[in-house]
Amino acid sequence: MTNDLMEKVVSLCKRRGFVYPSSEIYGGFSGFWDYGPLGVELRHNIKQHFWSKFIFEREDIYPISTSIIMSPKIWEASGHVPGFGNEIFKTSVGAGEETTTSYLRPETAQGMFANFKNIVDSFHPRLPFGIAQIGKAFRNEISPRDFLFRLREFEQMEIEYFVKGKDWEKYFEMWRGIMNGFAAEVGVKIHEFEVPTDERAHYSKRTIDFQFDYPFGRGELWGLAYRTDFDLKNHNLDYFDDEIGERFMPHVVEPSLGVDRTVLAVLVSAYTEDELGGELRTYLKLSKNIAPVRAAVFPLLKNKPELVNKAKELFLNLKSQIPNLAFDDNGNIGKRYRRQDEIGTPFCITIDFDTLQDDTVTLRDRDTGEQKRIKITDLKEAIV
Ligand code: ATP
Repeated sequence: MTNDLMEKVVSLCKRRGFVYPSSEIYGGFSGFWDYGPLGVELRHNIKQHFWSKFIFEREDIYPISTSIIMSPKIWEASGHVPGFGNEIFKTSVGAGEETTTSYLRPETAQGMFANFKNIVDSFHPRLPFGIAQIGKAFRNEISPRDFLFRLREFEQMEIEYFVKGKDWEKYFEMWRGIMNGFAAEVGVKIHEFEVPTDERAHYSKRTIDFQFDYPFGRGELWGLAYRTDFDLKNHNLDYFDDEIGERFMPHVVEPSLGVDRTVLAVLVSAYTEDELGGELRTYLKLSKNIAPVRAAVFPLLKNKPELVNKAKELFLNLKSQIPNLAFDDNGNIGKRYRRQDEIGTPFCITIDFDTLQDDTVTLRDRDTGEQKRIKITDLKEAIV
């Protein structure tokens, strides 16, 4: 596949309201993009899925949300300043003589280390446990490029997982498995790349890059790193194990996932062109747990009030149980199907004259275009 694919994805994103260039009315602003209504939903669903799998379904992860601007001392201790200096956005905090120079965080991770002691004091977790956050990060990248791949403002989903030093390999493997599962669930094929010693950050004893085949070539999507006890040491933090009465430095395994790169990989993977009923069509083969719209409800004809009313009634009823539902009565039914295909809606539900007689509807499958008749009472189960 070529950059042609990237152009098609970028153009679909703009046309259908997934992603727009930032500040476009003034010619754009390199490294920044805005999400439209469908992009926001897609992002939300990806983050929500991460939240369920990496945080909510487990009992050992503590989610937090920390400030984007923190004390500059954090960035000195972490080694980001001056080392990372030219890629970190500087800002002034306060006014006049009270002005302090600080930075927009280049990663969310330091927020977790900075709150390690707070979490331990509030919740007394036993090792292993993790602190997680989803939030914005900023890097003044020299050459932002490739749509959502290299941005200056992006979002990360990160977990700092604290373990006893001797156990790191076991938990590294655990997160590796979870990340592979997540990739399959959001519909992206990844390639694990064992990062060689000389390419790893100096504090990391092992890193796997989860790479993806973007239209411009293979590149990093997510990372999994064993960060040793580097970070807690830098911040002079440790852990008291009251079972053995010992104080020591936990080690850290870190799954780090970029939201925007995930959106890009998901869109590129989902973009499909095929022929249906003798016509070319473009559709997004999005996995149904992340598609911005789960199903669309149509009255067969717009000018028949009995069909429209029945369709509205069904729409409102279903929407109370499945919130990401759309209603459409614009244009002919074929056009509506195509519009939903193009934004990746897995199911279309059509109300026709038979519906008024027997409370059945047609349920159309996005990928095959096949339609089947189904009872309204069985709909919910068929689309969740
Ligand atoms: P790269 O080598 O591509 O610059 P990195 O190794 O610096 O990435 P990390 O510091 O490991 O990236 O950041 C963790 C995750 O954050 C990455 O796997 C990626 O998903 C995301 N990420 C990092 N930099 C950017 C960026 N400039 N734009 C979008 N996402 C990014």
